[in-house]
Amino acid sequence: MKNIAVIGAGTMGNGIAHTFAQFNYNVQLIDVSQLALEKGIATISKNLDRMVAKEKISEADKIKTLANITTFTSIKDGVKYASLVIEAATENAVLKTKIFKELDEVCPEDTILATNTSSISITQIGAVTSRPDKVIGMHFMNPVPIMKLVEIIRGYNTSDEVMKFITDLTYKISKVSVEVNDYPGFVTNRILMPMINEAIETLFNGVAGVAEIDTVMKLGMAHPMGPLQLADFIGLDVCLSILNVMHDGFKNPKYAPCPLLVNMVMAGKLGVKSEEGFYVYSNGKKSDTVAKMFR
Ligand code: NAD
Repeated sequence: MKNIAVIGAGTMGNGIAHTFAQFNYNVQLIDVSQLALEKGIATISKNLDRMVAKEKISEADKIKTLANITTFTSIKDGVKYASLVIEAATENAVLKTKIFKELDEVCPEDTILATNTSSISITQIGAVTSRPDKVIGMHFMNPVPIMKLVEIIRGYNTSDEVMKFITDLTYKISKVSVEVNDYPGFVTNRILMPMINEAIETLFNGVAGVAEIDTVMKLGMAHPMGPLQLADFIGLDVCLSILNVMHDGFKNPKYAPCPLLVNMVMAGKLGVKSEEGFYVYSNGKKSDTVAKMFR
């Protein structure tokens, strides 16, 4: 396997492209937005600089990694020679099924189609293709170049052969995989999102402030980051979509998104990517400054 196409150059897509390129795969990075592609490459370059500064890779490795990535604004052009496509576009079931219909039409017959979705059914996505045995969930964690885990999700029709192939590939890029079954939120977000949602409810109910809630979870539970800060890093729009998928999928009110989260997303406060969520950010840097609304 030499060519891996990645769809979406946002938070996750650029990290996935970075990781495969660093392990010497040819990566075709595809996004509908030219600006997103430019931003994605700039982020990869900045993250590689950081690795060079920490002496984890050499300057030559950085140059080689960037040279392994080619960008495209058209799916058809980008996936022509791909053995594997990893879709990391916006978390929206309608959008993802549309992308997979197109992928099924334009990719070579034996191309494996993976999605990095955080919550949407792999079985549902596979069902719109003529190759559901080759559709699989490959759920990377943020930030991809650093986080070890890949949650591999077996759709109802995913073949054993494809499961094994993706598990082996994960190992080749120095990650650790865990196989899970296809139910809303899988394992990661089934457990993480109710915690984040509850932290937002706790804030919404006035039990404590942003910094206080995060401090309790950091110092009291030994979490490296508080849940509200983590939500900002994931993207509040992504958190909301995942909760909505779990709420719809299980019909259980415990997954209903907190009205404060809904309001923040409607107001365009999406966390790090919009420079304001529960905290304010500049240049994507970790921040201890709580947003004005919560001071
Ligand atoms: P993002 O908003 O940062 O990036 C999404 C990108 O997709 C944008 O650049 C957008 O222009 C592009 N896009 C939209 N429609 C497209 C299309 N038709 N073709 C090509 N590109 C298109 O989102 P993200 O946070 O990177 O999330 C991407 C996926 O990864 C989602 O499914 C999300 O649930 C999942 N995920 C996110 C995280 C996280 O921490 N953010 C973690 C694990 C998984």
